[in-house]
Amino acid sequence: MQVPLLDLKGQYAPLRAEIEQAIAQVCNEQRFVLGPKVGELETQIAAYSQAEHGLGVSSGTDALLVALMALGIGPGDEVITSPFTFFATAGVVARLGARPLFCDIDPRTYNLDPAAVRAMLEKKCEQRGDRLVNKATGGVVRVLLPVHLYGQMAPMDELVAIAKRYRLAVVEDAAQAIGAALPDGRRAGSVGDVGCLSFFPTKNLGAFGDAGMCVTNDRGLQERMRILRVHGGEPKYYHSFIGGNFRLDEIQAAVLLIKLKHLEDWTIARQRNADHYDALIRDAGIAGIVGVPFRAPGYRHIFNQYMIRVRRRDELRVHLAANGVGTEIYYPVPLHAQQCFAYLEHSPEDFPHSLAAAAEVLALPIYPELAAEQREYVVKQIAAFYRA
Ligand SMILES: *Cc1c(COP(=O)(O)O)cnc(C)c1O
Repeated sequence: MQVPLLDLKGQYAPLRAEIEQAIAQVCNEQRFVLGPKVGELETQIAAYSQAEHGLGVSSGTDALLVALMALGIGPGDEVITSPFTFFATAGVVARLGARPLFCDIDPRTYNLDPAAVRAMLEKKCEQRGDRLVNKATGGVVRVLLPVHLYGQMAPMDELVAIAKRYRLAVVEDAAQAIGAALPDGRRAGSVGDVGCLSFFPTKNLGAFGDAGMCVTNDRGLQERMRILRVHGGEPKYYHSFIGGNFRLDEIQAAVLLIKLKHLEDWTIARQRNADHYDALIRDAGIAGIVGVPFRAPGYRHIFNQYMIRVRRRDELRVHLAANGVGTEIYYPVPLHAQQCFAYLEHSPEDFPHSLAAAAEVLALPIYPELAAEQREYVVKQIAAFYRA
């Protein structure tokens, strides 16, 4: 049996006629950037995310970049974030000349641990006038950038309380978490000052290429991000500040508008698949060997990824590949140990939970169309590996 990590063809087939028609419509109208469908998508994604405003941008990475630019982040500034995430989270910070200030994760959820953030702030930072200064670097700590990894939100109540106390802005990296929610029902992206979504094809809501969105309840930030999206020109060709080309294509918006109607059903199917994996792993008697995703009580996990945690992870991965099962490691090297961040002078052991997770996590196929027999086959193969 073949079980790819992700197979988008099954999602496309039933939508094909509708999507082709929508693309043809864009072709006929020849309005390719920031047209009416982008505006409609912004309205609908903002509503879905329970935020007041949406701003379509070119990718999830650019959503993060434009959010930090709108907050005025630049050289001399520092941004608190997780070292256990996709590269873009910290990459955008460094690209703006600012410094990523890493704190370790909660080993159960893989999300930024509020206790680690508090401890870092108390130990490494001090208030000087109205600025929160990193004593070692002299940098000004300005933003808290939690990531909702794998589709489960970080503990935002605690994180926002820390941000309030230290007067930090909060930018949510919600690239993997569209529709995820806190126990009180608030959705990913709507809790911080800006939420950043990605529509990269592997995300739960995937475009036919790159696309992303910023959502916010702050009118002023929305306006600044809107101007930054078009090189900072307002009115056109008059620049009071420097932005970039962060525009969203009309064709991507057309595709996403059609897919958005199915997102709830797809999320429910992912959750069903996750529950099934949990049960299969338990029933196979390997629950002591194969750690299943921890679901924080009350949180709505949208399972962009279903991550198991195992010993001999790399051997297991080879065994699964040899038996037709696709897997992936998100992420094999924590950011504080990346070569490009050597100048931050971390040792790998600085964030032991991130380091350990990077050595032990493995993503199993979880996409909505995955058949029950495929899920059973995947767990059978895992059980066979550990029994041998
Ligand atoms: C996918 C992703 C991004 C970047 O989104 P792109 O659309 O690929 O640029 C940022 N952060 C996280 C956590 C992601 O998973």
